[in-house]
Amino acid sequence: MKDLGSAVAPLDPAALAAHLPETVKAAVSLPEATTTVQLIDPRLATTAAGWLKVESSALCGTDLDLYQKGLSHPTVMGHHVIGKVVSLSPVMQWSWDVEIGDRVALEEYLPCGLPTCEACSKPDIYRFCPEADLWKGQRRVGMLGLHEGSGLHGGNAEYMELSTRTVLHKLPKDLDSNLAAWTQPFANAVDWVVNIGGATSGSRVAIIGPGYHGVAAVAAAKAVGAGEIVVLGRNSRTSRERLEIVESMGASILTNDDAATTSAVLGQHGDRSGFDVIVDTVGLGGPAIDTTEHLRKLGRLVLAGLGDTPVAEVNLKNLVRGASGIVGVRGRSPQSVTRSIELLAAGGTGLELVPSIDVGLDGVDELFRTLLDRSGPSSPHVVIRPSL
Ligand SMILES: [Zn+2]
Ligand SMILES: [Zn+2]
Repeated sequence: MKDLGSAVAPLDPAALAAHLPETVKAAVSLPEATTTVQLIDPRLATTAAGWLKVESSALCGTDLDLYQKGLSHPTVMGHHVIGKVVSLSPVMQWSWDVEIGDRVALEEYLPCGLPTCEACSKPDIYRFCPEADLWKGQRRVGMLGLHEGSGLHGGNAEYMELSTRTVLHKLPKDLDSNLAAWTQPFANAVDWVVNIGGATSGSRVAIIGPGYHGVAAVAAAKAVGAGEIVVLGRNSRTSRERLEIVESMGASILTNDDAATTSAVLGQHGDRSGFDVIVDTVGLGGPAIDTTEHLRKLGRLVLAGLGDTPVAEVNLKNLVRGASGIVGVRGRSPQSVTRSIELLAAGGTGLELVPSIDVGLDGVDELFRTLLDRSGPSSPHVVIRPSL
């Protein structure tokens, strides 16, 4: 986003909503973990800087966690949003460098942008803005309540408000819709596996967990030409079916139900020459730390899952002797979103092989319910499409 400087003009939310339908259909998720479909007047918006016609809103584990733990207010959820800009204030047109009709991917962060904010005043680390923090301010797409303006602040609706804090990225108009829906999780994976993990052509990469981000991590490793990709999952129905998906993408698979033996199972795989990058997408804690014994020289263990991570002992001798490291990751850099879009447009990530579970707004309640009781779809690529 460009610096607004002194160019800020007053917004006119009523004018921006003038061409929208009188009511917008939205899936409103309630604190007691149910979802109802409501028709909402977009003219209730008070701070909109533009509007997006939602193409897709992909579901991720954070949605399920928030839903299960109890939202603090009725909310239009959905934070991995793709859509078309249908109205735009002139100042945001300049700031975002987009036109009406452009197809964009939103980031979930709504950072404050103030020069006094440490995260927002440095280049490209706005995801650490306390206001946009998942555990603090919660100013995020898909987390703002129905009581704020129109309430249309998430992707699980036909249209959603854009605010002056919105961070967006232009998408190629002809990028396949299923692939476009991977933009944000694939950007996470590119950051974790490539930018931070250091995977490159020929690397051996191990990924713990074949879930949404595990599958995206396989695609990221594949996109940079990793020599071998190994994915470790459990023996449950869902996990086994997901392992079949990553196998079809070219990964080798391992199953193990005892977290304590994770390192031993990884160490016995293949030629036992170790891994350049190990990514824990599930938050194993101590058992993940144990896998550092299988890192090659200059290798990286990337901790991308928090789970109930306990404090674990680290074998520092292993790290020093191998010049290797352990690093935690949160979200992704804006550059990795750009890279994600380039790689998706170039093709060959393997993500086209992942079955897409497409659900309309009327199906959101059942979708959440069946995912939480584990009777739902096993593919991790679940996409809410308001047009269905
Ligand atoms: Zn997410
Ligand atoms: Zn900030």
